[in-house]
Amino acid sequence: MSNVLIKNAKAIISCNETDDLYWDTDILIKDGLIVEIGKNINQDGIEVINGKGKFVYPGLINTHHHFFQTFVRNLLKVDYVNLSVVDWLKEVYSIFKIIDEDVIYYSSLTAMADLVKHGCTTAFDHQYCYTKNSGKFLVDRQMEAAGKLGIRYHAGRGANTLPESEGSTICNEMLESTDEFLSDCDRLIKKYHDDSPLSMQQIVIAPCQPINSYKETFIESANLARSKKVNLHTHLGEGENEIMVEKYGKRTLEWCQDIGFVGSDVWFAHGWELTNNEIKTLGQVKSGVSHCPGPAVLGGYPILDMKRFEKEGAIISLGCDGSATNDGSSLLDTLRMGYLMQAYNSKARGGSVTPYEMLKMATVNGAKTLGRDKLGSLEIGKAADLFMIDTEKLELLGALHDPKNIISRVGVTGNVWLTMVNGKTVYKDGILTGINENEIVIAGQKVFNNSIKGKSSIFN
Ligand SMILES: [Zn+2]
Repeated sequence: MSNVLIKNAKAIISCNETDDLYWDTDILIKDGLIVEIGKNINQDGIEVINGKGKFVYPGLINTHHHFFQTFVRNLLKVDYVNLSVVDWLKEVYSIFKIIDEDVIYYSSLTAMADLVKHGCTTAFDHQYCYTKNSGKFLVDRQMEAAGKLGIRYHAGRGANTLPESEGSTICNEMLESTDEFLSDCDRLIKKYHDDSPLSMQQIVIAPCQPINSYKETFIESANLARSKKVNLHTHLGEGENEIMVEKYGKRTLEWCQDIGFVGSDVWFAHGWELTNNEIKTLGQVKSGVSHCPGPAVLGGYPILDMKRFEKEGAIISLGCDGSATNDGSSLLDTLRMGYLMQAYNSKARGGSVTPYEMLKMATVNGAKTLGRDKLGSLEIGKAADLFMIDTEKLELLGALHDPKNIISRVGVTGNVWLTMVNGKTVYKDGILTGINENEIVIAGQKVFNNSIKGKSSIFN
C-alpha cells in the first residue's frame, strides 16, 4: 500500500464527529492509512500530491446499485417515467434475460468508472440478473472489474426464487432455486469475502425482494449470513406492501422482523412507503435505508422524511440505484438531487437536512451501513479513501467560502480532480490509472452492440 503526502490542500472536509474543517493543511498517508493531518508536514522519499486550490473530501460510498442495468439505459421506449411498474418490468425483462457474462463485466466497469470519476471509493452492487444466458460467474467478473479500477467493492449476490405462476413479477428466465442461490453465496464468500479493516472485497447476501422469492429463501439467507458473518440486503417499501399484505397479512418490514431479516447487519433499498412507526422500528432494530433519489424522482415516488429518520436514529445512506431507473452513476449528482428533494418539502415538514448533512449520509452513514469502521471520514487512523475537487474553476467562483455545503448545494457537475482508495490514486486529471479507458470503450461498445442492441428490437 502507498505512502503519500498531500501538501497544502486548500480545505480538508473531515466529516469527523466534531465536523472539523482544515484550511491550507497537509495529510500524510502511510500503508493506506491517514497518519497525520497538519501544517508543514515534511517527509522525504514519498509521493507528493500538490493540494493547492483543491478541496479534499472523504470518499463517497454507494449503498445501492444494479451495475448490469448500465447497458439498459436512456431507453425512452421503455420509460420508467411514464409506464406503470408492472408494465415497465414486463418490457425491461425482455432485455435483462439476454444479458451474458461479458455484458456484466463491461456494464460493471462502466458504472464503477462513473462512480470513481465522481468521487466514489466504495461501491455496493445488487446483482440479481442470473439467467441461462448469464451463467453463475457474474460476481466473479465484477470482482475482476473492481480490482482493475481499484475501487472497494461490496458485491450483493441477489436472486429470485418464486415462479410467475405463484405470483412473482420477475420472469421465469431469471429464476434460481434457493439451494442454487445459497450455494453460490457460500462459494463467493469463501473465495472473496475479506472482513479485515481495509478489505477491498466483501460479499453481501441479497435476495432481490420479498415478493419475488419464497419466504424460505429469506430465512435461509439470514441463517447463512449470520453463520458466515456477512451482511444482508434487499428492496423494501418500493411499492410491494399491498402485495405483501394480501399474501402474508402483513407489511414488508413486519414480515422481515418476523423472520429475523432485520438488524445492524441488514440494510434496505428505498423505503419510500415506510410509515412513521416503521421508521421508528428501523431506528430500534438498527437497519439502515439506502435512499436513491434518481429513481424516486423519475418514478414519482414519495420523498423520504430524512428529519424523521434522523430523529428516530435510523441510518440513511445514498445510492445511485440501477441505471434502468436512474441512467447515471454519479453520486455527486445524487447528492445534489437528494438535497433538492428535501428542500422541496422543507416548508411542509418544518425544515430540511443541510447540504453538509447530505454529504455525511454519503460518507459517514455509508460506512456505518456497510459496517466499515475505517471508512467515511478523514481522520488519523482511518483509510486514505478520498476525493479532491479543483476549486480554481470559474463555475465555482463565489461559492468557495463554505466547503462543507458546496457539494450538495451548488453541485460539482464535472468529474472530480482526483480519487484515492487506500492511499492509491485510482483517478487523476481525467485518467483512470488502472485501465486503458479507450480500449475498454471500444471493447465494451462491441459487447453492447452484439449482446444487447443486436438482440433486442427495443433499441431500433
Ligand atoms: Zn434496486
